[in-house]
Amino acid sequence: MRIGIPKEVKNNENRVAMTPAGVVNLALYGHEVFIETEAGLGSGFTDEDYKAAGAQIVNTAEEAWAQEMIMKVKEPVSSEYGYFREGMILFTYLHLAPEPELTKAMLDSKVVGIAYETVQLPNNTLPLLTPMSEVAGKMSTQIGAQFLEKIHGGGGILLGGIPGVSRGKVTIVGGGVAGTNAAKVAVGMGASVTILDLNPDRLRQLDDLFGGDVQTLISNPFHIAESVKEADLVVGAVLIPGAKAPKLVTEEMIKSMKPGSVVVDIAIDQGGIFETSDRITTHDNPTYVKHDVVHYAVANMPGAVPRTSTIGLTNVTVPYAVQIANKGYEKAILENEALKKGVNTLKGYVTYKAVADDQGIEY
Ligand code: NAD
Repeated sequence: MRIGIPKEVKNNENRVAMTPAGVVNLALYGHEVFIETEAGLGSGFTDEDYKAAGAQIVNTAEEAWAQEMIMKVKEPVSSEYGYFREGMILFTYLHLAPEPELTKAMLDSKVVGIAYETVQLPNNTLPLLTPMSEVAGKMSTQIGAQFLEKIHGGGGILLGGIPGVSRGKVTIVGGGVAGTNAAKVAVGMGASVTILDLNPDRLRQLDDLFGGDVQTLISNPFHIAESVKEADLVVGAVLIPGAKAPKLVTEEMIKSMKPGSVVVDIAIDQGGIFETSDRITTHDNPTYVKHDVVHYAVANMPGAVPRTSTIGLTNVTVPYAVQIANKGYEKAILENEALKKGVNTLKGYVTYKAVADDQGIEY
């Protein structure tokens, strides 16, 4: 199969959908990769790196989009809709539910749309989302530590403390993929860490994983209020699949925090868990202060570390791409239930219920 990799065009998006390692993987099975010139530069991969791996460099987006399967990172923007054509396989993050125009463009041109974010394993996990939650989780503590520094508007706290001085306190609400990774970094820094989750079994797993290094607490308004009040850094890492994030940390709880404390709302992409995270921030201007608490609410945190994120993402996407390329999409989705769940548009129809329901269109 001929696979096209266009350069990402969204603002500040430095990831790319294929690494040289991915090219080698696909080439092993006789597939050809056509990558738009400089598509990998933001992630530290040059045209020479891709050529050495066996890819062909094309000069225009049009040439990349002309191939049989297109792999991207972000959903297409309107300037890219003109490249759609019947039968083209588009394998990328699509996030169609809030994008009726993109959905219509894909249906009108009968694109086969396979969304990274809805590929789902039998245990309900989302393997093509996990690495980005790992990145955002690890970053959240790192970023929180930075904004606790006086020069960045924080209270001047070193999370790990030093002998003779108290350690900083980190409260993590939501102990899933992102929350666990936030905790790993916080424990590594020597902070005093509390994780709250609604699921007692998850708390048991965390207790086994971290031993005495973290305090686990069942998530309820009382425990959240207590541990937010004490914390120097609060990380919001809750997910209720398919739903808006619940506002678990109230404005009153934020007011109870010490001046110069920091909150990092990873779940801002789902609306955020802090009543006071009422806006999405950007990498250019990532924080605002409310009730003397520094708020960080960037919705595409992995974009700040494109090298790690690109490699992490392609580690998990390329094996699915190999299946699609080897078998053709029809056989590949018939033989792989997880991949089948990724199909959002097919032959002019929406084939993912939540997207159809959200947009009130035929399923
Ligand atoms: P996950 O499903 O692995 O974990 C979510 C956890 O939240 C689960 O353990 C669940 O039991 C827990 N939870 C649910 N309700 C709760 C409650 N009331 N109190 C406490 N815990 C509760 O999800 P994840 O992959 O870790 O993702 C977390 C969030 O991070 C999602 O909103 C995801 O979209 C977001 N995310 C954001 C970025 C970004 O750049 N901002 C990047 C990646 C992921």
